[in-house]
Amino acid sequence: MDGVYETSTILAEATPAGVGAVSILRLSGPKAFRFAFALTGLLALPVALRQLAWLSVAGERIDRALVLFFPNPASFTGEDVVEFHLHGNPLIVQKVICACLGLGAELARAGEFSERAFLNGKLALPEAEAIMELISARSDLGLKAALRSLGGELSLELLALSDMAMGLKLQQQVCLDFPLESEGQELGLQGLRLSLMELQKRLERLALAARNQALLRRGLRVTLCGRPNAGKSSLFNALLSYDRALVSPLAGTTRDYLQEEILLEGFPVQLTDTAGIWDESESATEQEGMVRAKRAIGAADLVLYIYDASLGLTGEEQALLDELGCLEKTFLVANKSDLSGIDSGVLSVSAKTGAGLEELRGVLVSRFFGDQIPLGEECAVNARQAILVEAALGFTRECLDEPDEARQHFLLEQIVASLNTLRFGGESGGGHREDAEIFRSFCLGK
Ligand code: GDP
Repeated sequence: MDGVYETSTILAEATPAGVGAVSILRLSGPKAFRFAFALTGLLALPVALRQLAWLSVAGERIDRALVLFFPNPASFTGEDVVEFHLHGNPLIVQKVICACLGLGAELARAGEFSERAFLNGKLALPEAEAIMELISARSDLGLKAALRSLGGELSLELLALSDMAMGLKLQQQVCLDFPLESEGQELGLQGLRLSLMELQKRLERLALAARNQALLRRGLRVTLCGRPNAGKSSLFNALLSYDRALVSPLAGTTRDYLQEEILLEGFPVQLTDTAGIWDESESATEQEGMVRAKRAIGAADLVLYIYDASLGLTGEEQALLDELGCLEKTFLVANKSDLSGIDSGVLSVSAKTGAGLEELRGVLVSRFFGDQIPLGEECAVNARQAILVEAALGFTRECLDEPDEARQHFLLEQIVASLNTLRFGGESGGGHREDAEIFRSFCLGK
């Protein structure tokens, strides 16, 4: 660890820009307190480490703010930190920022507060990354996973895996160094294999968590399509639980596509309602509507083909479905089941009565995750971590199949290196400046 390494004092708005009840400006660095004293006129730290004070520049009052002091090392960054809780007017925020810059503060880069916390040993990398996951989570499950990682579960698991990999490397080294004791070596090799399999299993669990988190972050893209009047817009509204799309007995009401995001059993789903793609209208608007519908079908993870149960799925529709070439991601839904007593063998729903909707939601969720629906017991694993988990997993699998001991040794070293990069951002195993690129993807003020 480098210790308190910065001489600069950085500044950023910690709350979103714009008008609000409160805007928070955060300063971190050796001169943070000095700048706060200059703006408030305070001569020393208040006993309670917080003070309601007027902020003034050259005798002109800017705002009356709550000023919080966090002396190092017991602060988020490990440095002296000051927070100004200002009235939430961008003009005030701007004035205080200018005043601080005038005193010598520097604007923080994205993620610089977290980076300093990491470099000062205040925050392990997986926890720092979990903060970003927590901020950007779009579902309850995403939040839960981020909280697990923030609470140190991912760090602990990575530490355990790292210890395991190190142990394996040493064990393998012993087998390499003492090849003559053949019976002992045989046992050793067996043990090595079992441990590698255990490592593989645990890495696979993390890889699955990463895949699920990526899906949760992105959301499932579901496109509703079908003939005009099949009830697509009605079903769209029913799934949204409010009347977003115009519903009409006249065919061709939906010309453009509509998009809304919903949470289905906690999973983010982006629903797209399209124009009826088989309307033979010559109108340019409707033609364009169909082009857009086809585009939305192409981009979808799952296409719900809605047809009118009372009319049945016609041969013509079947042919057009084949022509679209998306059968493997298409799910047939017979709507208006209230008008038809026929059991068509596909999922029957009624947008009007709500019958079958729960089942349809279930289909969407199971399509989302296949048979590996997360139960809220996973840690958040971000894209950077996912790449390294996959790398470690690849080396582990290869190692299991590798008869050559020298190559095995090399692969074990690669596993250890991947796990170190996962934990520390670099192979060196310590908070170093060159490892801090990761923080550039963080948001400003974090
Ligand atoms: P779209 O053109 O496919 O978007 O179809 P709409 O949602 O606009 O619906 C066309 C007509 O079918 C409207 O009059 C709806 O009220 C009616 N409709 C939609 N779903 C149902 C349903 O489940 N049962 C019945 N009886 N009518 C429905």
